[in-house]
Amino acid sequence: RSKNKGGNSSSFYDPALQTLLEKQTELETDIVRAIASNEFCAYFQPQVNQLGKVVGAEALIRWNHPKKGLIAPNEFIPIAEQYGLIQSLQNVVLRDICKLINELKSTNTIDNSFSVSINISQSQFNSSNLKKELFSTIKEFGVEASQIKLEITESMLSSDIEHTIVQMKELISAGFVFSIDDFGTGYSCLTYLSAFPVKELKIDKSFIDKILDQAKGFSIAQTIISLGKSLNLVVVAEGVETAAQYEVLSKMNIDSIQGYLIAKPMPKAHYLKWHNDKSDVHSLIS
Ligand code: C2E
Ligand code: MG
Ligand code: MG
Ligand code: MG
Repeated sequence: RSKNKGGNSSSFYDPALQTLLEKQTELETDIVRAIASNEFCAYFQPQVNQLGKVVGAEALIRWNHPKKGLIAPNEFIPIAEQYGLIQSLQNVVLRDICKLINELKSTNTIDNSFSVSINISQSQFNSSNLKKELFSTIKEFGVEASQIKLEITESMLSSDIEHTIVQMKELISAGFVFSIDDFGTGYSCLTYLSAFPVKELKIDKSFIDKILDQAKGFSIAQTIISLGKSLNLVVVAEGVETAAQYEVLSKMNIDSIQGYLIAKPMPKAHYLKWHNDKSDVHSLIS
């Protein structure tokens, strides 16, 4: 950060800012290169209901960097978003999702209720091309839109509510389903929640982390679950790591859970193996 805050901004040079900008440009160039060399892929993390049935999975992008190893999304998604590269990354993830669904179908290990979630960033959600982009890919692979769940965050619902609802309805009429990710961390107006055509709420991990604390996570998780139930929504807990956390959620009648307790996000081949050999899930949560 600059020390001469009061200075004339047009004439000062901030070496820290300069370094940051250089790093961003370098990263952007590296992302472009990496897209061309197929270094991005989706990992998959299962979601399991109270009966131990695998009801779906979330696709989470990873960058398999030749020098830096596996890179997590928080390190490159904001830059990809800023430099207009997010669409290419989304295509990679969506194609991997379609391949996964088709492979699961071919082994008869899923029914039509199984869906895979994809995280939609703000700029993608605003784009008028979103429906076309999603549709052309699933059509290419012969996947039903109803098997794709679009995860958006509360903050995306906070501006221009009417336009947002129109955009969502268009995607829903094509068959897609919406889920609100990281629920509880934004400032969505609860009175409007019922106006949005969503199917699912995902309780943010920060509340699950504190769920054993009566005054903190516990009350909030309970409130979100009753809110979800009263609106007829599916409620998912994310970031469930321990059996103790699961037990509390189970008593609250959570619909399904996602987290390291069940499995970490896995590359497609590992996920397929895990899915086809999932009998151990029952012992984990019963
Ligand atoms: P998210 O959508 O809320 O995803 C959940 C994050 O929690 C994932 O981190 C997942 O690996 C992590 N997680 C799940 N269970 C546990 C657990 O039990 N313990 C702990 N410590 N962590 C757990 P990840 O994969 O690093 O992704 C971070 C965020 O990056 C995502 O948060 C999402 O907002 C964004 N993201 C990931 N993939 C994509 C993508 O394909 N497109 C876009 N636009 N954003 C993405
Ligand atoms: Mg998500
Ligand atoms: Mg989340
Ligand atoms: Mg998140």
